[in-house]
Amino acid sequence: MDTSTIEETGQVPQAEWITFLEGVSDLNEVMICTGCGVVIQTTDPQQPGYVPERALGRQELICQRCFRIRHYNDVLEVSLEAEDYRRILDAISARSAVVVMVVDLFDLEGSWISGINRLIGFNPLHLAANKMDLFPPETNWRRMEQWLYRQARDQGIQLHGISFVSAEKDRGIQELIDQIDRLRDGKAEDVYIVGMTNVGKSTLINRLLGRLSAGEMDKPGERMKVTTSPFPGTTLDTINIPLGDGGCLIDTPGLIHPRRLTHYLLPEDLRQVVPQSRLRPKIYQLEAGQTLFFGGLARLDFLKGSRQSFVCYASNTLRIHRTKLERADALYREHLGGLLSPPAGSGIDRYPSLYRRHFHVKKGQDVAISGLGWIAVKGERAEIEVWAPKEIDVVIRESMF
Ligand code: GDP
Repeated sequence: MDTSTIEETGQVPQAEWITFLEGVSDLNEVMICTGCGVVIQTTDPQQPGYVPERALGRQELICQRCFRIRHYNDVLEVSLEAEDYRRILDAISARSAVVVMVVDLFDLEGSWISGINRLIGFNPLHLAANKMDLFPPETNWRRMEQWLYRQARDQGIQLHGISFVSAEKDRGIQELIDQIDRLRDGKAEDVYIVGMTNVGKSTLINRLLGRLSAGEMDKPGERMKVTTSPFPGTTLDTINIPLGDGGCLIDTPGLIHPRRLTHYLLPEDLRQVVPQSRLRPKIYQLEAGQTLFFGGLARLDFLKGSRQSFVCYASNTLRIHRTKLERADALYREHLGGLLSPPAGSGIDRYPSLYRRHFHVKKGQDVAISGLGWIAVKGERAEIEVWAPKEIDVVIRESMF
């Protein structure tokens, strides 16, 4: 089959799936997925339990998500409302388990699951800090680790440990597995993997499965059969993958963060904003009265302060445009979608209007715009305004570097 299609579109070609279902007969009256127990529906491929209508007459109905896990070693995310998600996490507190929270180092603000410790009870919380490949080889990971502990503490999150990984580049995975083993301490506890959508949780789970397959299974995928675990009181499912010692690796659904920039972009715009390669910071020497545009997505006005540098960490493909503050409004009006893009085309209508926030910042601080990146302040003091949609978090934090 054409696996490139799966990688590129994230979808299993429908024909393949139907062929798989072809072998079974009889209409199944109870429309429940035999893989995960979720109620079958035929209307929304993005929601749990999706099956195309013409496949309904099969005896063993299996939802698209389970099909992918069984046959392509691929784990889908289903995005859920916060309330339902909390119910799933809450169930963890009733048992003894290890919880791994995956975060995206490029968008930490959009990655935290607030109140997670309360939800998981006394269980240890380990952090898998993903996308380490975006940072330079000379990064001081020890320093970054201390910084991350402080960032977590500021969010009221207590961590047991931190592993830096690159799910995509297959780095740090074995170290993460070793850390998990240490936390399990020979007990056959379940390991929950939790995270917001887009932090790289699916990619990481596939990496973990790859290692487990190589180590424990004769034929990759064979023991990866989904065992169901619908939590009482919800129709939401988790995916349990046996670890071979009685415990399971449990994939929980991804949670959508409504205050992330990426949420408001069309795929073609998203490609320019989500970094694909190592970040090359861009340094701008600015005078008060100058403005930086980040495509047409956000804008930083330098209002007061001595001439100083602002170091921008964003996707290398995102165009940053410098102009005079007095010209900025007109430039935005005239060039949004052109010189100032993304957003472009129909993406402009989808993108919320910019809203102005006023900050006093100083050396050693970052201005982080969730999903877009951050700007490190290098001067002693600066008064700035940041324009970004009201829906998106803009925070001042201790500098990452
Ligand atoms: P999920 O929604 O948390 O399951 O996230 P995905 O696994 O679907 O990944 C979201 C995006 O992040 C995709 O574009 C991945 O290619 C990318 N991604 C995942 N892991 C890494 C990583 O280690 N490094 C980089 N640079 N990108 C990653």
